Amino acid sequence: KAAAAIIGAGIGGIATAVRLAVAGHRVTVFEAQESFGGKMHQLELPGGYRFDGGPSLFTLPELVDELFTLAGRNPADYFRYQRLDPITQYFFADGTRLTAWADEDRFAQEVETKLGVPAAHVRAFLHRSGQAYDGTAGTFLQKSLHKAGTYLSPEVLKAVGALPQLGLLSTMHQRHTAAFPDDPRLVQLFDRFATYNGSDPYQAPATLSLIPHLEHGRGAFYPEGGIYAIAQSLVRLAEELGVEFRYQEPVQEILTEAGRVTGVRTAHGTYASGLVVSNMDVVPTYRRLLPTQPAPERTLSQPRSSSALIFYWGIGRRFPELGVHNIFFSQDYKREFEAIFRDKTIADDPTVYVNITSGHTPADAPEGHENWFVMVNVPHDQGQDWPALVARTRAAVLARVSNALGTDVAALIRAEQVWDPPGIAARTSSFGGALYGSSSNNLLAAFLRHPNFSRKLEGLYFCGGSVHPGGGIPLCLLSARIVSELISK
Ligand code: FAD
Repeated sequence: KAAAAIIGAGIGGIATAVRLAVAGHRVTVFEAQESFGGKMHQLELPGGYRFDGGPSLFTLPELVDELFTLAGRNPADYFRYQRLDPITQYFFADGTRLTAWADEDRFAQEVETKLGVPAAHVRAFLHRSGQAYDGTAGTFLQKSLHKAGTYLSPEVLKAVGALPQLGLLSTMHQRHTAAFPDDPRLVQLFDRFATYNGSDPYQAPATLSLIPHLEHGRGAFYPEGGIYAIAQSLVRLAEELGVEFRYQEPVQEILTEAGRVTGVRTAHGTYASGLVVSNMDVVPTYRRLLPTQPAPERTLSQPRSSSALIFYWGIGRRFPELGVHNIFFSQDYKREFEAIFRDKTIADDPTVYVNITSGHTPADAPEGHENWFVMVNVPHDQGQDWPALVARTRAAVLARVSNALGTDVAALIRAEQVWDPPGIAARTSSFGGALYGSSSNNLLAAFLRHPNFSRKLEGLYFCGGSVHPGGGIPLCLLSARIVSELISK
């Protein structure tokens, strides 16, 4: 079988490497950085704090298991995880606290008790979210939408027929307001799921209201050893399957001849291969690696998803009221998204997400301490004055969490590191540091992302968060599955 060169050892590239190796290809992964993982990396700070650098929420773990099974291995020998319960601790601006329990009924009951919204309304909403996922979106996410043949399968035809019911013409926010007209807090809670793919709930189609199903219906999971264990265990598997990882060897050009790829060029030389899979963000793939090829400008010009500003803090105390996922909501959610997507800045009072893994993995912080990953959604880099934005946002974040927890959090910071959009772009080559490629703020961007293959160059494929079906760990894993299916055909 043809040799395959994969550009990038992000989770999409690693999963593609495993699949192609299982299919009998000789696979080489070229990675610009000194190690694998891309956005899914880990870091350590002085004093004994470990952090997952990027993703923190993990859903659909069966997509990881599937790779071990495919290779004839027992997943549990490589990778273990547990279902999180509770999933999230919510702190609303008005002082209300709410726990999202894993069990849907218990969560609905908690909403009734704390917010006064009937549990039956919450159950009905989550049920519809599940139906939307099972009936349609699941199908769209698992297939290439860019091959005519896809539309001939009865499953896909049925899903297309059901699309109008999903609310293509209304927004997520409208859908949530209609479901919970009397409680803006619950609307805010469900609107936040738009940020799971870097979108704006005030613009994104109501279809995305299926995202809560992934967390509430299918469950949120925590891997033993942290999120980084996903990348680690899959690289171990890939190496066992004979995949060669070449670190600190960025690909400089995709080589082509007469309408097909012939290999890649790096600083060390040229590598011949009939298959090239780019796990690099699709925009720089075209701009830097294929400068003389015509690029699909319409797709590449879709608005970017949001990026993130992250403070990694070693905290010299424990907070029993906090869990793995904690949300401190802003007062004015609309303003927050206008700031990101219209004004290209950060609102004065942004919603703050705090991820703490030391409760589950004690080795992640010294005894009596915690490792706080503190994240705010921000616009992608468009040349803003980041040092000024970071300083202002740091103060706002500290004020928000200190107020909610009734203690001066600034005084507890023992170690600190910051990752901002230019830093994300520099480390991962993601265009503008956008976390999920293009946003899903309009229908075209939501459904017709860049295909998993090139229409112009035979042998060129794309995986990862900037192409179909989208960003986030599960969708990157699905992109790898689609690529390997396209190649095997
Ligand atoms: P990437 O991680 O983008 O990696 C691409 C790799 O390609 C990098 O290693 C890069 O160095 C390499 N590369 C680039 N150019 C070249 C070149 N020319 N030659 C060789 N190598 C190259 N997802 C979730 O599911 N849940 C979350 O909670 C979540 N939170 C997030 C929080 C943050 C702060 C971030 C940054 C992301 C988050 N995500 C989350 C998104 C998720 O991390 C990404 O969608 C996913 O990890 C992207 O994987 P990828 O396969 O697209 O590759």
